[in-house]
Amino acid sequence: MTNTNTISPSHNAAGNPTALADKLDRCVMCGMCSQHCPTYQLTANESESPRGRISLIAALLSGRLSVDDRLQAHLEHCTGCRSCEAYCPSEVRFGEIITEAKALLPHAAKPPKPPTITPIAGRGLRLYQQSGLQKIVRASGILNPLGLSEKESLLPEVPATPVWKNYYPAVTDTSRGDVALFTGCVANVFDRAALDASRRLLNAMGYGVHVPPSQGCCGAIALHGGHPKEAARLAAQNLSAFASLDIQAIVHTASGCTAQLSEYTQLLSNEQSESFAAKIKDISHFIAEVSWPTALQPRALKKTIALHTPCSLNNVLHQADAPRQLLEHIPTLKITPLPDTNRCCGGAGQYMLDQSEFAQQLRDKMLDGLDSINKQYEIDILATSNLGCSLHLAAGLRARGQQISVKHPIVILAQQLDLVS
Ligand code: SF4
Ligand code: SF4
Repeated sequence: MTNTNTISPSHNAAGNPTALADKLDRCVMCGMCSQHCPTYQLTANESESPRGRISLIAALLSGRLSVDDRLQAHLEHCTGCRSCEAYCPSEVRFGEIITEAKALLPHAAKPPKPPTITPIAGRGLRLYQQSGLQKIVRASGILNPLGLSEKESLLPEVPATPVWKNYYPAVTDTSRGDVALFTGCVANVFDRAALDASRRLLNAMGYGVHVPPSQGCCGAIALHGGHPKEAARLAAQNLSAFASLDIQAIVHTASGCTAQLSEYTQLLSNEQSESFAAKIKDISHFIAEVSWPTALQPRALKKTIALHTPCSLNNVLHQADAPRQLLEHIPTLKITPLPDTNRCCGGAGQYMLDQSEFAQQLRDKMLDGLDSINKQYEIDILATSNLGCSLHLAAGLRARGQQISVKHPIVILAQQLDLVS
């Protein structure tokens, strides 16, 4: 059955339909973005392209169209990868357009879901895995009728999540100053290895690391789910958590969250958000920018890595080269890019859960590319700098029965320096 809802400008949860209309007006409908859009590549359907979505949103704003299930699906199928922005000669800010348009959809009137993965929930998941209950539940097939088996299959091995100290001093004779670590919500549980490796490497490079305890979710899930006010509330909480620190940078390991933090000025336009956003760095980018201490000599690693470039690192942070620069410190390591690494893998935060059909098709294309280079180079590790991509790709590899491990580049480097096991 098709549901239909009429949208009036006053329903715009983003608060400014005129500003959205101005952003749409920049589009000259040239279609140069379409061939780079992953959902258009899958479907060859104009309504699944950036240009098609812009037409739909413009029609919605002008009242020529109402929201129905099909229109809503076309907007929700967008992965938010922002490849279209990278190829648009008119500099259309599609990322802002799609998040503001999602705030027009009827589900935006419902309260946003809070981030569900906290360290406490993580400890519960770890117990579920370590007690053997996970094996029993999977073998019983009980999750299939509940529609949860796909979501549960994404669950990686949950690490221990000890409480962070507020500050970790440099372990070198001379200090190079302080930085802060953003730990996030889901990343604080599932990206713990990368966060820990980052902290230890920064200390070994001469940086003191602050981990402010009052920080929280970056707000990306709320914003991309059509809840800009909730995203702004979370942004304000993070601005206040880091405000008093005298730091050179705020670093993070999951590029999807880092991208969101770097755009806080779009949620809160003030001096504090500008200074916060200016300090945000992906961990690989921060380390690639500063001088590498000659005292740190990673052990050689005779392996081959396929390097994945997350859309957030490529299209939003524009730091796509940084992970390779980091890995190049490791002697004898062979690094090869994943074929079509600039195309979205379908992870895209909540997308892999909410749009699982498209997410799996996009992942299959990427893993088929990995298969093709695996035949040529015998790949040992798939490296990626975004937690969502990592969870999604690792689940795909498990489903294919492939033994290739998925790791963050910072973990590989810290292991070769014997900073982590
Ligand atoms: S953000 Fe990505 S999926 Fe969405 S329209 Fe642009 S290219 Fe397509
Ligand atoms: S978004 Fe940019 S590239 Fe795409 S149709 Fe509009 S102007 Fe052309």
